[in-house]
Amino acid sequence: MADLEIVQLNARSDNFAILIHDPQSGRTASIDAPEAAPILAELEARGWQLSDIFVTHKHYDHIDGIPALKQAHGAAVTGPQASAAETGLYDNTVSDGESFDFAGHSVEVIETPGHTLDHVSYYIADQNLLFSADTLFALGCGRVFEGSPPMMWESLKKLRALPDDTIVYCGHEYTLANARFAVTADPENAALAGRLAEIEELRAAGKPTLPTSLGVEKATNPFLRADDPAVAAAMGMSGASPAEIFAEVRARKDRF
Ligand SMILES: [Zn+2]
Repeated sequence: MADLEIVQLNARSDNFAILIHDPQSGRTASIDAPEAAPILAELEARGWQLSDIFVTHKHYDHIDGIPALKQAHGAAVTGPQASAAETGLYDNTVSDGESFDFAGHSVEVIETPGHTLDHVSYYIADQNLLFSADTLFALGCGRVFEGSPPMMWESLKKLRALPDDTIVYCGHEYTLANARFAVTADPENAALAGRLAEIEELRAAGKPTLPTSLGVEKATNPFLRADDPAVAAAMGMSGASPAEIFAEVRARKDRF
């Protein structure tokens, strides 16, 4: 079986649209649909027909392009059961622990609520690919709009349990702002300090900082490290529960 080709596109102001393509069957999926125009242009340029859209959550900047993409390509839309009625946009619905086939690859659905209650992440184990949208970002995590901080912490722990060599694609390019906050939450972390410098260089050159790897995130992302004594100490909360420490890190980032 051939490896999937991945194309990451800029969309809207700071969203990513991600296309995954199987060169043998020609099957092509878009992870979310932030904006139709750049996705349609990329499909046209590559001569790809969009067969699927995998929706992570109901926010407008992740589903806005669906009607135009469906009209142009007739793609089947798969999205979380929890927002099927609210959006009215999905042909197939999925929930936690389910998997489905994409061109011979098993796509696992991992419910990751917190940012929204419906949020799911998609994991393709045989390709080491994770699409975490607005749950896990490079050096950050999504704002907790609908869930609670303990719920988001549990969701992040599910993703953290995946292998270190997992390649992580996210919903937004927020890495520089995240990195500037992260060094305040984990000030003694040498790997993180080095990463901030790399990210500043990439962004100064106008380059994306994504994808990232789960191993790098486990070592440097303070939102995955709420149970690390160094982060607890930086929050002045040594001895508190990881969920409480996570909530404090998230609250400080919201004010940062
Ligand atoms: Zn969102």
